[in-house]
Order: sequence, then structure tokens, then C-alpha cells
Amino acid sequence: MFKKILIANRGEIACRVIKTARRMGITTVAVYSDADAKALHVSMADEAVNIGPAAATQSYLVIDNILDAIRRTGAEAVHPGYGFLSENAAFAKALADAGIAFIGPNVKAIEVMGDKIASKKFANEANVNTVPGYLGVIADAEEAVKIADEIGYPVMIKASAGGGGKGMRIANSRDEVAEGFASSMSEARSSFGDDRVFIEKFITEPRHIEIQVLGDKHGGAIYLGERECSIQRRNQKVIEEAPSPFLDEETRRAMGEQSVALAKAVDYESAGTVEFIVDAERNFYFLEMNTRLQVEHPVTELITGVDLVEQMIRVAAGEKLQLQQDDITLTGWAVESRIYAEDPYRNFLPSTGRLVRYRPPEEGRDEDGLTVRNDTGVYEGGEISVYYDPMIAKLCTHGPDRDAAIAHMSDALDAFHIDGIQHNIPFLAALMAHPRWKEGRLTTAFIAEEYPDGFAGAELKEKFKRRLVAVVAGLDHKENERKRHITGQIGGRAVEFTKRRVVQIGRENHTVDIVDDGPFIRVSHGDDDVESVVESTWTPGQPVWRGKVNGRAFAIQVSRILNGYRLTHRGVEEDFFVFTEQEAEFAALMPVKLPPDTSKMLLCPMPGLVVSIAVVVGQPVKAGEVLCVVEAMKMENILRAERDVTVGKIHCNAGDILAVDEVIMDFE
Ligand code: ADP
Ligand code: ADP
Ligand code: MG
Repeated sequence: MFKKILIANRGEIACRVIKTARRMGITTVAVYSDADAKALHVSMADEAVNIGPAAATQSYLVIDNILDAIRRTGAEAVHPGYGFLSENAAFAKALADAGIAFIGPNVKAIEVMGDKIASKKFANEANVNTVPGYLGVIADAEEAVKIADEIGYPVMIKASAGGGGKGMRIANSRDEVAEGFASSMSEARSSFGDDRVFIEKFITEPRHIEIQVLGDKHGGAIYLGERECSIQRRNQKVIEEAPSPFLDEETRRAMGEQSVALAKAVDYESAGTVEFIVDAERNFYFLEMNTRLQVEHPVTELITGVDLVEQMIRVAAGEKLQLQQDDITLTGWAVESRIYAEDPYRNFLPSTGRLVRYRPPEEGRDEDGLTVRNDTGVYEGGEISVYYDPMIAKLCTHGPDRDAAIAHMSDALDAFHIDGIQHNIPFLAALMAHPRWKEGRLTTAFIAEEYPDGFAGAELKEKFKRRLVAVVAGLDHKENERKRHITGQIGGRAVEFTKRRVVQIGRENHTVDIVDDGPFIRVSHGDDDVESVVESTWTPGQPVWRGKVNGRAFAIQVSRILNGYRLTHRGVEEDFFVFTEQEAEFAALMPVKLPPDTSKMLLCPMPGLVVSIAVVVGQPVKAGEVLCVVEAMKMENILRAERDVTVGKIHCNAGDILAVDEVIMDFE
């Protein structure tokens, strides 16, 4: 076994690999860029080597710098994680030449599977089902249209060198093929430096289901069940689960056996993933093979009990797989939520800055057999920089069945407290509460279909309303109790045996009677004779309320606002005001402050630099046309007209720095 390994990656995956290596008694070497000098993976590793400036192209992607770090530390093997150099055949070759073990597959497997055209041809020969399509390189738009006509619409145009959802287009007609062919090709050229594209049938109502495989250097290969990753936004996975709610035993075995056949055909000797697209009739088609550890591998670990990183290290060291196919059993259900530094309310714009608060839910298994696992590479006070992937953490839960795993995920998301940057937890929480997700009626279009206009927060359902009103009554009561006990502080309300309060949500009033009953607070809701019993150890100032309402445990995020609280729960973010009856009467007389009518202006969606203004005063503009370009976090954001408008006044010039919501221009 290796004594020392180097992890050629950063973030959560570097931390995750270090954990297993340490458990195996292997010394670890981290590499880091200037921007990552204080990163978690650096402090976790036994040794760390700086490999260059912040930009990945000058550090994590520079093969020579990694080789240099290996030489300096005497590491015997390299784990590449995912992304970066993990699927780079030149890197695997360079390591082989230097006599260093690559904790991944052989060079040939990386080469064949790294190219979508080559891998599809290879899969065809290994008798793996592939998506019907044309596997030649397509010369021009005319040929593309001819091929699409033969395949039948809709079709998908893909970059052969593609990855991460880039360089892909769906086309429903000849015009769209011609257009998609050109844009797919140019995106492929700029993203991958390789403009070969091909066309295949677009599978309708598709589900993304992938098989985890594991091979060794002695011809052994097994599969470890599937993961369903149909919840995607722009072809990028958001939520994954294992097993899939859609597969039956027969389909699972057929997919597993084809995946193993493919793995054997390329002498696959590590952990890898065979991705399939599955249609409504459970026909499945090979998409691609990812020759690395996959982002979502923890859900497989949770249902199989196998540590995939340990297996990768063992087979890289030449060990024979100790696991046989029959040893692999799938127990319970696991769900993963990818927590990203992005603003779900602003079209998922990336968000960077300091993590002022980072309090994940507690990890581990509870007495009901429910597990929380949180793979992360950040810490409180750390920085989310503009240079790398904006993933903050991968939150996983496991339970005896799908409903339990989902319910546990809802609770874990509610308890996860992040402050200082925007994050997608409210969106993930809303997904967990979504009836269609709960039913498992998924396709890769789920998010596009269910959130066609983006995400504006989940709706406050009646069933949550009473629960949250009761909690708010309890919060207010505790805060008043505390004020009464602090001498000199005024404003604490007078003690009464029963207190009547009005909890206001929007313009809706909920009158409640509150009784302090030792560890409980009893809250009666209006006339309908219903009582909520609230129990919590929350004290004023804590950002997460944990407790029980009528015996059921919850976590709710709480922040103090004037005259009330802002609660976040199950993806709902809502302001609750608490008044005495008299205050409520006055409050009712207050004019409602209407939000400004933003339909007549263009506001700057993020702090940034105005690069260019594309229109002039008085110009009529059609919906979708470019109004201006704002640069933020090294990305140019094109702001387009949402409807047909005529440009009125323009309030800024190219070169100006704008704050969020600053007015860029008015419309007439
Ligand atoms: P998964 O199927 O696990 O979501 P993806 O293909 O989306 O995998 O990518 C996983 C990671 O690898 C992501 O961090 C992504 O940004 C990165 N990645 C994928 N393809 C490439 C590529 N061609 N070049 C650089 N990074 C890539
Ligand atoms: P990448 O390398 O970017 O991960 P994939 O080929 O794995 O590319 O495709 C990414 C996603 O695009 C899939 O998860 C699926 O949602 C969708 N997709 C790809 N090919 C097809 C197809 N032929 N029909 C329908 N959806 C597809
Ligand atoms: Mg893929």
C-alpha cells in the first residue's frame, strides 16, 4: 500500500479523499493555489505545496507544477478528484512516465471515454445500447440538417469533447438544427478547443440514471447500483438520489451488466460511472462514461456501505477487488443536495464573498436510523472566491426508504445556516417539498417545467402557516420574557396569564392566545379551537430555531426584523409581524408601502461594471434584445429586454460601477 499520496484537487473532494487516506494510514499531500492558501484541504492534509497563482490554468491545471510537487514531497500516487486533470490523458501519461501511480483508470480508458464520438462507437461494439444517431463528424449546417431529418426530430447536437453540460443544443426543426449546429460548434471551440459536434436523437421525457462501476487491474469489475440525477438545471445536476425510484430489478440488472461489459472492454481499473438516458418505457441508452470519481458518489456509498475512494486507492496499488457482485446490496435510500454559492432569486447568479456564518447540520446517524453526511471544503470565516466552482457543500441524507430520506433532507436543509453570501438552500428546500419530486415523477426537464419563470420562493402553504404562526408567537414570548428580566430595559410587555397577540402575514391577521406552560408554550389559534404546543430551547439571537410543534421536530431559520421575524422553512421565506391587539389596529391604518414598479426600468441585478450600453434614448426594443452588458465576477452578463419597450432615460455610462438595484435605464 502507498505511504504517501498527493491530491491534485481542491475543495470538498480534496477533503473527502484526505479523510479516507488518513483512515487507511496514508500520509496526504495537498496542493493549493495562492487563492487557496487558507483553504480547508490545505489545513487537513499532512503536507501542502503551493502550485501557482489563483487561476486554475496557472495552478491546478498545470501538469508540470503537480509533477514538481510530487518530486518535492515524494508522493507515490495521485488522486485527481473530479474536474481539473481527472480526465486528462496527458496527465495520466505523464504520471506513468514518472513512475507515479494514478488513482484512476488507465490512459486508454480515459482517451476512449473522454471523447463522446469515440466512446459511443466503442459502446456500440461492446453491445451497449446507445442513443440512435450519427457518429461521424459533421461538416456543415446543411449536412447537419440532412442527418437530423434522417434521425427524426427532436434531436440533440453535442460537442464530442463536451462536458459539464456545455456545447449541447436541442433542435426541434431544420432551422433550429442549422442554428444549434453553429452555436454548439462555436461553444465547443471556445470551451474545449475542439469543435467536432455530432447529432443524436433527443430522448423525450428523459431521466438521467447512471451506474457506478468498479474495476481492478486483474480483470475484475462490478457495478454498485444506480444513481438518479434527473433534477438538473441547464444540464447540470442539482439533486441526486440512490437508488432510482424508476428502475425495476430487471432494468437495474440489465444496465449494470452492460456497464460492467463496457468497463471490461476498456480494462477499466478504478471507480467510474456509466451515464444513461432512460425513456418513459424504461428503454435505456448509453450517454457517456465518466472516468473518475463522480461528484454525487456519496449517495452510492450511503446505500452500499462501500467507501469508493478506499477501493480506488486499493486497486491503484494493485490489489484485487475483494468485493464480488453478490456482496453488493442496496440498503435504504440516499439523497444529495448540491449547495451552491448562487442567488436562486436572481436567476442563480453566482455569489462570492466571505462566509460570515457557516453552520451545517450535525453529521451522523440518529436513533431512528437516519443519517446526515455533509461533504464540504469550506469553513466559517472562509472565502468563496471567483476562481473556482461555486459549490459550498454536498449535503446527503440516508434513511430506510425514500420518504424518510427526503423528510430528513428537508429538516437538514432547514437547519443549515449560511450567512454572508447568497446560497441555493431555499431552492433545494422548495424542491424537497415539491409534490412531483416526492412522487418521483421526474425527467431532466423537471426544473424547467416546474419553475419556468425562475424561483421566487416557495409558497406558504396553509399547513405550514399555523405551525409558523405558533413558532413566531413563541419567539415573541421568549423575547419579551427576557426583556422583563433585564433591568433597565423597557419595551418588554406586561406579564399576563394569557397573552393575546396578532401575528400578521402580509395583510392577513392571525389572532392567537399564548399561555406559558413550563417547558411548553401553548398557542390557541383564533376561534377554531386548535392549539399548537411549542417546545424549544431557542434563545433570542440564535439564527436557527430548533424545537417541536405538537411533538414534531423542526428547524426554522429566524432573523429579527422591525416588529417581527423573518422565517425560512421548507423554501418559504416570509415576514411575520407580532402586535398587541391595539398595535394591530394602528398597524392596519398604516399605508402599505408598495414596491416600486420595476416594469418600467432596468435595474442592475448585481454589483458590477457597465461594459457597454447597446441602446439609445427613444429606441424601440423587442423582447430578448440586448440592452446593456454588465461585468461582475469576471463574467459578462448580458441584460436583455423582458418585453417590447421603448428606451427612456439612460442613467449610466459605460465604465460606471453600479450597486445592486441601481437604475440603469427607464422605459417609456
Ligand atoms: P457530474 O456528472 O459529476 O455532474 P460533470 O460532467 O457535470 O460531472 O462535471 C463534474 C466536474 O468536472 C464539475 O466540477 C465540472 O465543472 C468539471 N468538468 C466537467 N467537464 C469538464 C471539462 N471538460 N473541463 C473542465 N472541467 C470539467
Ligand atoms: P456532459 O458531458 O455535459 O455531462 P452528457 O452527454 O452526459 O454531457 O449529457 C448531459 C445531460 O444532457 C444529461 O444528463 C441529459 O440530461 C441531457 N442529455 C444528453 N443527451 C441527451 C439525449 N440524447 N436526449 C435527452 N437528453 C440528453
Ligand atoms: Mg454527463
